[in-house]
Amino acid sequence: MGNLRVRFAPSPTGYLHIGGARTALFNYLLARKNGGTFVLRIEDTDVARSTQESVDAILRAMNWLGLDYDEGPYYQSQRFDLYREKIEELQSKGRAFRCYCNVEELEEKRKTALEEGRKPKYDGTCRHRPDQPEDQPYVVRFRSPDDGETIFEDRIKGTIRFSNEELDDLIIQRTDGTPTYNFVVVVDDATMDINLVVRGDDHINNTPRQILLYEALGYPVPEYAHVPMILGEDKARLSKRHGATSVMAYREMGYLPEALVSYLVRLGWSHGDQEIFSKEELIEKFSLDQVGRSAGVFNPGKLLWLNEHYIKNGDPERLGRLLKEYLQAEGVATQPGPDPVAVVKIMQDRSKTMVDMAQGAAFFYKKELEFDGKAVAKFLTEDKIPVFKSLIRALEKQDGFDQEAIESAFQKVLKEFDLKLGKVAQPVRVALTGGTSSPSIFEVIEVLGREETLRRLNKVFPLCGA
Ligand code: GLU
Repeated sequence: MGNLRVRFAPSPTGYLHIGGARTALFNYLLARKNGGTFVLRIEDTDVARSTQESVDAILRAMNWLGLDYDEGPYYQSQRFDLYREKIEELQSKGRAFRCYCNVEELEEKRKTALEEGRKPKYDGTCRHRPDQPEDQPYVVRFRSPDDGETIFEDRIKGTIRFSNEELDDLIIQRTDGTPTYNFVVVVDDATMDINLVVRGDDHINNTPRQILLYEALGYPVPEYAHVPMILGEDKARLSKRHGATSVMAYREMGYLPEALVSYLVRLGWSHGDQEIFSKEELIEKFSLDQVGRSAGVFNPGKLLWLNEHYIKNGDPERLGRLLKEYLQAEGVATQPGPDPVAVVKIMQDRSKTMVDMAQGAAFFYKKELEFDGKAVAKFLTEDKIPVFKSLIRALEKQDGFDQEAIESAFQKVLKEFDLKLGKVAQPVRVALTGGTSSPSIFEVIEVLGREETLRRLNKVFPLCGA
């Protein structure tokens, strides 16, 4: 499909959540793969619940994930004239009518239907109403066919049939004159030439109503692909109980966007058992044929595993820039201090998230270390004082300051006191980092640099219980 036109149509009533991001991603990949167009449309007809803040949050999240769109964002709130025109068109064709039934009347009828064991349905009272009083509130309803079936071929779910009898005379315009979701989505998708609608399968019941509207308006019906929901591990619909559901919360927790993209694409789609994909590979390989029919189960452990993978293999320059941001978010100033790129190179093998990395690397930048009391008591003992003194001398005198040079300074001290490296490395680690866990001590010293290492070692004596 050379002129494939797909869209992502979020309602700006909150942040971009994991499920929405996956829908956006599938649309994006299909557009890129087919040389098509990816349209972004903001569905903000629900004025009371839509906010600019939420639009901004959605745009930021899409940008972070690298889901760039080709057209839009279009805003439904700016298209009300078009919707009004189309509602009038349906009325003049006799396919829509004003309904003056009030809410209480309808509620009464609904109750009676339920009591009598019938499925509640609009009874058509206003379908043939001769008078059109101007001074009474009304909604506009679409006149749904009384019989027949609406059938469509879903690209994921197969053939789907609905009996038209089941479908109500849908409200397309509310009493306040605003149009409703099922109507505007049709006018928009049709006028934006969308020819494939990819969205969550929570919309599947809307599809027959929308198809009838396409037909009534004389528009060609697009193809549909309804993507199964995402569930939590307990098989309930994914919610906050299962962990963060906001895309940007994952950024805050130190996830890389490519980890989330790789994770989300596999929630519903598979390519053999491959787990790691570059974006180029995804664009090449993604296809609706391999999207499964059943719901995907969100597995935070796997997402973390992917994140670890991408951090381990990430470009240190880029991760260095990110590390700076995450350190700042932790309240740690990165000036003065070692080049974050050098820090990344020794931390990226041991960090599951960027937050992990920032927390593990904070000691490089802190003027005053926070010491772990237990570690101090265990390793900074009085007998270490001569060892530290000797190490300070050896490091001062040492030619060069790469890992080899640092190691040879250590060797001198080990020899002098007849100690094994382990006996010296851990006290030095506590002295330089405040705790007992860090990359190799030679790497830490090289990255800290001679001046800062000596400054820290010289401050350690009062802690050594002398
Ligand atoms: N605005 C709708 C939503 O957020 C999506 C509509 C659609 O994809 O057709 O669920």
